Amino acid sequence: MSNLVEVNNLYKYFSTKHGTLHAVEDVSFTLEKGQTLGVVGESGCGKSTLGRCVVRLLEPTSGSIVFQGKEVGQLYGSELKSLRREVQMIFQDPFSSLNPRMSIATIIAEPIKINKLKRGKDEIEKRVYELMDLVGLERRLANAYPHELDGGRRQRIGIARALAVEPEFIVCDEPVSALDVSIQAQILNLLEDLQDTLELSYLFITHDMSVVRHISDKLMVMYMGTVVETGSVEDVFKERLHPYTEALMAAIPIPDIDREERSKIIAGEISSPIDPPDACRFANRCKFAQDVCRASSPKLREITPGHQVACHLCEQIRQTGKE
Ligand code: SF4
Repeated sequence: MSNLVEVNNLYKYFSTKHGTLHAVEDVSFTLEKGQTLGVVGESGCGKSTLGRCVVRLLEPTSGSIVFQGKEVGQLYGSELKSLRREVQMIFQDPFSSLNPRMSIATIIAEPIKINKLKRGKDEIEKRVYELMDLVGLERRLANAYPHELDGGRRQRIGIARALAVEPEFIVCDEPVSALDVSIQAQILNLLEDLQDTLELSYLFITHDMSVVRHISDKLMVMYMGTVVETGSVEDVFKERLHPYTEALMAAIPIPDIDREERSKIIAGEISSPIDPPDACRFANRCKFAQDVCRASSPKLREITPGHQVACHLCEQIRQTGKE
């Protein structure tokens, strides 16, 4: 299957008065049509910056983003306009991205009108109702305003608005983090159903390993701007190769989790992302850290087919786990 999205060696730096903040560093991935790549990591790991670079809300410092075989940075005019339609984003807090003075129908109709996808009041209204049906919003809510709805329904409006322009690829930035657990499941199921129906591809950004497991085909774990582990969801959940992935897994709230499992949850100070030294960025928090970890930054390397990790001591740690 050919790749819909290909990202190669993407970097995004920000200048601050304290130095250069390395928000995204040397990130590469591919995504096939109809697939989901989950990007997981703690707040500040660079996953949202990565998502914004991919949809071109932010200009990368360097690197390449190829969508449907075309280099995104070289698109202008009608090609760029077409990209803006085909690549959409769903945000964590739909409330702040929805105009409080617009009704639900007006919000969903806006991108249809701007992109001239339907003409005339009746055609636009028909399409708005189709989209409301598609995302499970009751038609009676068409004239309601965002503040009158609960978080789940507001997120459904955000999804309908993204779908209004018939995208191929959606970056979902923590779309369920602000929702109750029961509503989270409904929105995740909706996104999966829409993916099956419309052959959508997702870059799904989250801090929650249980959420990412539910929805992803492939997984990319980020720590301080870098990818520390990547592979299929099955492989990563079967054997975590990076100590950070293991710690994220232990942070999943399981009611009967035992004391030993809880002790693995990440301790220690996060290093500064400003002008970071050439060392493993997880060394301050890693219980396995040795001198070699502080001497150079580990590169991603394949340990089993398709399963990569950036850790100097992966083999030794695996061996210890088997003893
Ligand atoms: Fe831990 Fe060293 Fe591996 Fe970094 S390279 S994750 S510090 S063992």
